[in-house]
Amino acid sequence: MRYSASFIKTKKETPRGAQSINQALLERGSFIYQVGSGIFAYQPLGFIIYEKIVQIIREELDKIGCQEVSLPVLHPAELWKISGRFSEIGEELLKVNTSKEAEFVLAMTHEEVMTPLAKSKIQSFSDLPFTLNQISKKIRYEARPRGGLIRLRDFNMQDAYSFHATEEQLDKTFDDFVGAYKKIFQRVGLKAIMVEAASGMMGGNDSREFMVITPAGEDRILVCVCGKAYNTEVAPEGNVCICGKDLKEEKGIELAHIFKLRDRYSIKFGLNFTDEKGKLLPVLMGCYGIGLDRLIAAIVETNHDENGVLWPENVAPAKVYLIDLEGSKGEEVYRKLQEQGVEVLFDDRDVSAGVKFSDADLLGIPYRIVLSEKTLKENSLELKKRNEKQEKLMGVDKIFDVFDNRKNKD
Ligand SMILES: [Zn+2]
Repeated sequence: MRYSASFIKTKKETPRGAQSINQALLERGSFIYQVGSGIFAYQPLGFIIYEKIVQIIREELDKIGCQEVSLPVLHPAELWKISGRFSEIGEELLKVNTSKEAEFVLAMTHEEVMTPLAKSKIQSFSDLPFTLNQISKKIRYEARPRGGLIRLRDFNMQDAYSFHATEEQLDKTFDDFVGAYKKIFQRVGLKAIMVEAASGMMGGNDSREFMVITPAGEDRILVCVCGKAYNTEVAPEGNVCICGKDLKEEKGIELAHIFKLRDRYSIKFGLNFTDEKGKLLPVLMGCYGIGLDRLIAAIVETNHDENGVLWPENVAPAKVYLIDLEGSKGEEVYRKLQEQGVEVLFDDRDVSAGVKFSDADLLGIPYRIVLSEKTLKENSLELKKRNEKQEKLMGVDKIFDVFDNRKNKD
């Protein structure tokens, strides 16, 4: 990608109204664009990051046997009346009234569509278990959106729903998701902790949250040195962990929530199956969701310095930020790295070195290569990692080995 031909337009100053570090840095780097309160667009650079995260999620959920679907955001209100949530949920649930005959709900979750969809397939125990997954938009009317990408009115989620004949099947899928989610958070560069949680309006008994500890978080969690963590709603008495040690309160961003819904929606929608003995039983369900926008917010909140973002390599919009201050060799290095499959953002603009250096930091691309008169005299260049202070001098030709070797390692 050539900077001069790209849509990138960085800002020096923190935009007015930016309520959080993630919003300030993401807007300054032209990763996102604010459309309205709690409503954002991803700009090209931000969308690359979003798509890389989606790809990692797809790979990990594919390994545990999820099948992907695409469901509508516009739901007939009738379905939400069957589940009871049409009246149970307050103003957060957006309702659309076009005429007396047509009443709709804008989806904030998808049990109301997933359950009837599953019903169209399930008859007997032999049709179970299976898990359907989707990565799509959700709409929720937040009275006070805040925290940049943390609490939105229009947001993106991965949400999967599993269907089972037995508790054992449900337990296995629940454990599979715990494992897959841990891998996903690790791959995107987040230190997530699993938290015992109450299940709120989703219903069901067992649930876990995955949280990232950061002062930017709006959820409070109680953590123990033993590694256990609790949502404040389910914290043990006296704030003492089951291991006997005192719990410490921290702030966190909730990245994901998984639930054993069991028969809550199956009963409402008449989702049954016949077991081996011919007995009719409700299907047991689970649901599993990751908030994609707040995941990006959490990456920024936990990977930045005063100059900008430090994107973890697996989600960075490019691997290398290339600066040629001398003006003769940059094109060749750019072309060669591209031929090697290295994603390069080549700052080919006619601007000062200072502007290029500060954009390199703000955009947070993991490696910076600088060619200058001084380095080229020795046929060398400077390589610097975004998270390190000191650059390394290296032969121009050697750089291609560095990224070739890295690729083999991945
Ligand atoms: Zn403990």
